[in-house]
Amino acid sequence: MEGKVVLEEHFSTERNNALWNAKGEEDRNGVAYARDVERRLLDPDACLREMDRAGVEMCILSLTSPGVQGVVDPHEALALARASNDHAHALTRKHPGRFAAFAAVPMQEPQAAADELARAVGELGLKGALINGYSNVGPDEAVQYLDEDVVLPFWDRVAALNVPVYLHPREQLPSQQRAIRGYPELGGSAWCFAIETSTHAVRLMLSGLFDIYPGVQVILGHLGEGLPFMLPRLQHRLDEQREGRKGAKAAHRPSHYFARNFHITTSGHFHTKQLRQAIAQIGAERVLFSIDYPYEQMDVGGRWFDDLELEDGLKASIGRANANRLFSLGLPEISAGAVAGSAS
Ligand code: ZN
Repeated sequence: MEGKVVLEEHFSTERNNALWNAKGEEDRNGVAYARDVERRLLDPDACLREMDRAGVEMCILSLTSPGVQGVVDPHEALALARASNDHAHALTRKHPGRFAAFAAVPMQEPQAAADELARAVGELGLKGALINGYSNVGPDEAVQYLDEDVVLPFWDRVAALNVPVYLHPREQLPSQQRAIRGYPELGGSAWCFAIETSTHAVRLMLSGLFDIYPGVQVILGHLGEGLPFMLPRLQHRLDEQREGRKGAKAAHRPSHYFARNFHITTSGHFHTKQLRQAIAQIGAERVLFSIDYPYEQMDVGGRWFDDLELEDGLKASIGRANANRLFSLGLPEISAGAVAGSAS
């Protein structure tokens, strides 16, 4: 299928790389993999070439994890976010119709994050925010999650701007990694990213945030970080447990918010049975094709999607139309014939 849109695709900058310690990636995945990823994060032309080969028309870029979320000093976090967003804007200007971008936001100061999001959306034309999980707000393990009261001014602006927020993984705090001691390969994308990010998403559902802002849309990658499978049991046990009923902050059960306030993408999880399970749980209109470049190869993800046996209408929705609608991209619809032709 030509004309696909993808939205969990990453870039970096020299400034961001200077702050990012890639040692963990090297230990887990090998030096060659980490070096190759680092090179491609800095090379938008390589991204465009892979997009062309994979039938991807548009790529919504974002600063790679942990990015701004890992910067403790709020002034430095704001400076990095602004520089990153200006860089992203330059890429979208240079390649209109091929690149769009999410804003990086300095959540260490939620009001500053709100103002930077407004600048990024209003002045730079960026399409929403991508946040790499919790934000470091002090030494050691002083961090802040997105459901905490102090973050409300940010959500207020998200609701007013009517743009989505992509909740992207980062590693768990060191104190929470006892369960994988001796198995460092589980610390990142293979396992713990999903644990960390799905827990963060559940916090949002239980917090009452979506009662205050019922229109806010959060995007989860990796087919929903396990939630399409786990959420029914979570809800069942919350219903049964005394702790689940008393003192609930949210007006509704988690599935209510999952069906109304979340979208999920296929990034880095190219598995057909799991895709069908995700569609059954959240609905095809809330599933969006993505790849997770450069941690994944565009042509591998593209080929999996093109070969999928889905009805043409569904494939066009997940591959393009859902993103077109969610981000108001203004792309023309593609015909069912074009979908079938390119998949054969
Ligand atoms: Zn990613």
